[in-house]
Amino acid sequence: MKKNDLLTLTIEGMGNEGEGIGKVDGFPLFVKDALPGDVIEAKVLKVKKSYGYGRMMRILQASPDRGEAPCGLHRSCGGCQIQALSYEKQLKFKEEKVRSQLIRIGGFSNPPLLPVVGMEKPFRYRNKAQFPIGRDREGRLVTGFYASRTHAIISNTDCLLGVPENQRILEMILDFMEKEGIAPYDETTGTGLVRHVLIRKGFATGELMVCLVINGTGFPGVERLADALFTIPGMTSLTLNVNRKNTNVILGQKLIPVRGQAFITDRIGRISYQISPLSFYQVNPVQTEKLYETALRYAGLTGAETVWDLYCGIGTISLFLAQKAGRVYGVEVVPEAVEDARQNARLNGLSNVEFYEGKAEVVLPKLYREKGIHADVIVVDPPRKGCDRACLDTMLAMAPKRIVYVSCDSATLARDLKLLCEGGYELKKVQPVDMFPQTAGIENVTLLNKK
Ligand code: SAH
Repeated sequence: MKKNDLLTLTIEGMGNEGEGIGKVDGFPLFVKDALPGDVIEAKVLKVKKSYGYGRMMRILQASPDRGEAPCGLHRSCGGCQIQALSYEKQLKFKEEKVRSQLIRIGGFSNPPLLPVVGMEKPFRYRNKAQFPIGRDREGRLVTGFYASRTHAIISNTDCLLGVPENQRILEMILDFMEKEGIAPYDETTGTGLVRHVLIRKGFATGELMVCLVINGTGFPGVERLADALFTIPGMTSLTLNVNRKNTNVILGQKLIPVRGQAFITDRIGRISYQISPLSFYQVNPVQTEKLYETALRYAGLTGAETVWDLYCGIGTISLFLAQKAGRVYGVEVVPEAVEDARQNARLNGLSNVEFYEGKAEVVLPKLYREKGIHADVIVVDPPRKGCDRACLDTMLAMAPKRIVYVSCDSATLARDLKLLCEGGYELKKVQPVDMFPQTAGIENVTLLNKK
């Protein structure tokens, strides 16, 4: 097999990123957009030692699992990976992905895995999007999403995963930039002003936030742009975020309020949250409620417990737990998120919560060493890279009765669960929740009991 070969391929499996896998004389070829059950014509793109990559040129015989893919851009855009797969089969794929990672990486021979909690309506679920601004080949201003593995912008102002308001907001901003001659940021030269537009909507409150990420210290005519944007129902916050670094990280540190508040408010269950543009907030509010309820149930609180919530963000899980716990302590690294968290505790009249600013792997060991802190239950919800070793070691030393591990990456979850189980815990439950329909991503809540 060599590059540019055309061959007929039967797709038999799926990779972790949702790619189809077919074999040619036992040699696996990964093909984006191909589904198990498809027979396709594939063009070989790259051949490595033990596997290769191909491109789907034509579907010769469609898989029975192919469903409607309502977005015409789903193949070129890097946002969705498995939109062409029926939703029921998407859930099955995610369950199998989690199972295989728990077995392969975690070493659990028969993991206590529950079926994935799916969505009734798996579109328009995202409350947040970050749209890059650039130019197309003809030099016109565009926004949309990056194609997979590149920074080429696939032009689209109405992503079907996002809220309908995105379109009007984005078109207003592009229109304004066009008329005022404001240039988009150019990554190759580091020139130009506007990098990204961040839009977030509170699903429960209807509040809308727009944050313009700029390579500069101001935005010419921003008051007039604000006049236009604030005609959109729900608009309550316009801010500028300064990012002058040549980096892939979207947001910079500095936030400049323009109009309205520098945050929006939303509700999950009975708790209200204030959310700054710099703070993390789960993107799928419908599923978040199911996720947090599961976490709360797994925490098994009676009212007396001391609970630590590590990687707590704006205190979302902490406050959920505080309704049923004796005392809750949160730890979070982003200062604005900690500020939101403290404000949120006040907002909800919860006085049994306290937040520490810093890295979990630094704060927790230090407090354990210096103050001998104790926990009945520890909840963790780290970013994709999982927990730091120093954090896991301190958790084991603190020996809580239960650990609830919430994770958005099943590979690092499996790795960390292995270590916790080697340290004296038993994996009782793994509940996947589909927070990211149409993509290969999956969230999990797991319960570990001290043996
Ligand atoms: N539990 C929250 C946030 C989860 S996202 C919620 O459900 O909304 C993970 C959070 O961990 C983010 O807020 C991120 O800023 C924070 N974080 C990342 N690395 C960290 C670290 N080393 N220590 C503490 N917090 C960290």
